[in-house]
Amino acid sequence: MAVIKPPYFGTAYYPEGWSDQRVDEDIRQMKETGINVVRLAEFAWSRLEPEEGKYDFGWLRRVISKLDAASIGVILCTPSATPPIWLTEKYPDILPMDENGRRTTHGARLHYCPNHEVYQEYIEKMNEALVREFEDAPNLIGWQVDNEVYVWQGKGCFCPDCAQKFHRFLQQRYGTIDKLNQSWQLTLWSQEYQNFDQIPLPRSDVWHHPALKTAWMEFQEDSIVGYVNRQYRTIKKYSRKLVGTDMMPAPLVSHDKLTKEADVVMFNHYNDEENLGNVFFWFEYLKTLRSAPLWNTETDPCGNGSTARQAYKPRGFCTVNSWLPLMFGGEANLYWHWRAHRAGHELMHGAVIDAHGRPTHTYGEVRQLAVDFASSADFLNRTTVKPAEIAIHYDALAEKLFLAQPIAAEMDYQPILRDYFYEPLRRAGQRVDIIPPSHELSGYRVVISPLLPYINEELYSRLYSWMEEGGIWIAGPLTGCRDAAGGQLDKPLGRLEEWAGCIRRYALAANKKYPFDLDDSFGGKSNGAVWYDGFQTAEGKAAAVYGNSSYELSGMAAVVERQIGKGKLILLGTVPQNDLLLRLSEVDTTGRAADTEHLPAYWGSDNLLAVSRVTADGQAAGVLLAEFRGQKGQLQLSGKAEDLRTGQIFSGRVEVSPWTVMVLRYIE
Ligand SMILES: [Zn+2]
Repeated sequence: MAVIKPPYFGTAYYPEGWSDQRVDEDIRQMKETGINVVRLAEFAWSRLEPEEGKYDFGWLRRVISKLDAASIGVILCTPSATPPIWLTEKYPDILPMDENGRRTTHGARLHYCPNHEVYQEYIEKMNEALVREFEDAPNLIGWQVDNEVYVWQGKGCFCPDCAQKFHRFLQQRYGTIDKLNQSWQLTLWSQEYQNFDQIPLPRSDVWHHPALKTAWMEFQEDSIVGYVNRQYRTIKKYSRKLVGTDMMPAPLVSHDKLTKEADVVMFNHYNDEENLGNVFFWFEYLKTLRSAPLWNTETDPCGNGSTARQAYKPRGFCTVNSWLPLMFGGEANLYWHWRAHRAGHELMHGAVIDAHGRPTHTYGEVRQLAVDFASSADFLNRTTVKPAEIAIHYDALAEKLFLAQPIAAEMDYQPILRDYFYEPLRRAGQRVDIIPPSHELSGYRVVISPLLPYINEELYSRLYSWMEEGGIWIAGPLTGCRDAAGGQLDKPLGRLEEWAGCIRRYALAANKKYPFDLDDSFGGKSNGAVWYDGFQTAEGKAAAVYGNSSYELSGMAAVVERQIGKGKLILLGTVPQNDLLLRLSEVDTTGRAADTEHLPAYWGSDNLLAVSRVTADGQAAGVLLAEFRGQKGQLQLSGKAEDLRTGQIFSGRVEVSPWTVMVLRYIE
């Protein structure tokens, strides 16, 4: 019986497309490569149940047994992303409907309405049979529900079932139609409704009410979360293995909601060398969501591509990309996919082995990765990512509110959080968690809440108590300024004016042609971005003031600071640039000595991603480093460290080659 332990190094595999002999050869090659986990049965419904009620699990049982014999673990997927033809023929209304009332046809994937009751019953029967059949497989590690459960075509399903459920969703939220009319101020343009059933589903060719668009996105999200949760529950009835669902870094469906009932957080991402850094933000978010394992279930081994092969990636990219999940505390890196398909969709997508069974050009790196994962396994399993002192709020509702009504012209919610708030802290060597608003605050020294329009009473109350105990809350801009449906509040910034001891005089959207300058209390000069609130201070103190080139806001406070208990509130009127955020966060800006309390320490150049690790009792254990921009990197160690990949001992100044990973264990 196979005993498979993390880190998992694996791949998706579709044996239903290959002969028994080829499967044997593939498994032999997997073993030789060092693969220890394979993801199976995703999309395989037509082979698992070729006719209604006639299950055929024999082929899958044979593959799983052969993998077990090769000491390779298995993640089994529910096939619900692809209802087979006999099912969509029998119930054509399983197929989702577009905003013009046209149903889609069979022939792609994700061709289902998440609210179709009959479809959910078929899934339940399939999942029950699948789980009962395979739960006892000795090499089974976990279950994946569906695949990349997006809002259909980014707009959702407009079928009669969804319409009815949307109206009940609104009724449940508002109670009476009068309350909805009043909350959305529907006297404007005579939009008032007489009953919930009259409310239209928001089409993309109509200038609909932003609250309607937000509610529709929330309803679609809830529908998908309900659809996935139902599958989690069926599996958990019969299985004690880990259950999760794999998602891309996409907005609209909150990873927080989607993983509430999951045992493992799964993530799929495909980035090239130009934007590899963009995915760090997502890892910081996903690793923080649950105290559960994080599995990277999909990334490409050599080249993205679906209908066309995308550009070559430099040697070493595969190595860095494959290490990222482990660097951020994850325990699995799986490729999509092992063997390229023979025909059909996504034929140009990267794979470890091509359709002819020949290794692709990054095979050498893949094989070395398996060796390096194994030689670092003990260190990785005995240490954890150093806890973060700083957290940044990222809110799936804020994402929807800004989509329905952006508020500022230069509004791109997640990239603003990433580029102006997360990145400066990461570059300064800080560990940062990206957290949803529901996340626990204790343990953080600083919490930053940029562009968080809606704050509920519960969060206000937790933030206040946490500040009283010494927390530094950096809020704004555009935080606490709207209700949950995107409407204005009684006061422009809810409770924040009173808490910060100031009055907001003017609110302006930024225009790059007219930059507004700031003079801060640290003696620094910078420009704001995205949004400008001009404050008049009372009990609060100005931590930055708009300078002489700030037009009507010159002389007004741009950042206001006020003591609250042992902590403080820092209210931002604008998005800070240069080092202002670091200074407000009380971060050392003189170097990148992230481990100064626990020597030996390191500093490194900007192009190095460095994630410190600690032992169970919190002692500095080492650091995982990756050069991710294809340039030479500089590293300064104040003690000795061993690279577990190579056995080399380093101290002092170290030059890091482009696209290199180092697993450094500190030596006493
Ligand atoms: Zn529907």
